[in-house]
Amino acid sequence: MGSAGRLGGALALVTGGASGIGRAVCARLAREGARLAVADRDEGGARDTVGGLHSGGTPHAGGGPPHAAFEVDVASAPSVTRLLARVQEHFGVPPTICVGCAGVTRDEFLLRLGEGDFQEVLGVNLTGTFLVTQAVARALVAAGAPGGSIIHVGSIVGKVGNLGQANYAASKAGVEGLTRTCAKELARFGIRCNAVLPGFIVTPMTDKVPPKVLEKFAGMVPMGRLGDPQDVADVCAFLASGDSSYITGASVEVTGGLFM
Ligand code: NAP
Repeated sequence: MGSAGRLGGALALVTGGASGIGRAVCARLAREGARLAVADRDEGGARDTVGGLHSGGTPHAGGGPPHAAFEVDVASAPSVTRLLARVQEHFGVPPTICVGCAGVTRDEFLLRLGEGDFQEVLGVNLTGTFLVTQAVARALVAAGAPGGSIIHVGSIVGKVGNLGQANYAASKAGVEGLTRTCAKELARFGIRCNAVLPGFIVTPMTDKVPPKVLEKFAGMVPMGRLGDPQDVADVCAFLASGDSSYITGASVEVTGGLFM
């Protein structure tokens, strides 16, 4: 599918685009005709993602390739400001689609969890989501509010908690509150903001989870399997597109029915 696809030539910024869910989201949005700004702290990985993308999208204003990779640390305000400036310089417009997939875990039981690991996870997962959302929303409003769809990747763990993930669960619960507030504040600018809440999805992030624990979770999923990054990417493509034009402030669970 080229620029005539469901996202026909729209510019999408995806953070965490070097790996796992973010990489799958980039691939799916590109197949729907979007141009991609792939951002990650792993710039080499982001370039690899760009290398594998469908290139039928509309070339950017300068006539170059439709997709580009950018280095960013979402937890750093100056880094996020630089990212938006570079994306707009490269493509000539702000992104009207933004999917925030950058995230980290630093698992430890509450009684042993250090403040540094708590703050680091909050810094990337929650502050990072805030900084990127604010920067994209500011750029869209400055450009005359051409409309937009911002998608936050939360987690089902933000709703139900999880052993060893006090920091992660708190960050993802915060993301949902942020999503709903952004939806209320940005609606008047034609910008929608929604969250997807994945369950257990097989990515490099879950490589750190002991196989025994993953097997246990797989056994608890009504649909009988762990998720694939593509399962989450499909929902992000729907939320990015006009097919969800009356949906904002929603949290969509992508869990195979786990914890419903
Ligand atoms: P992943 O494969 O580890 O991908 C996350 C990407 O984000 C990595 O490339 C990572 O780089 C990057 N990143 C981390 N910190 C960053 C920062 N400060 N600035 C920019 N990029 C940064 O993980 P994933 O499983 O695809 O997770 C994607 C999102 O889905 C995360 O928000 C995660 O919390 C959420 N999620 C995942 C699952 C699951 O089961 N996999 C379930 C629910 C929610 P490094 O490799 O250098 O850290």
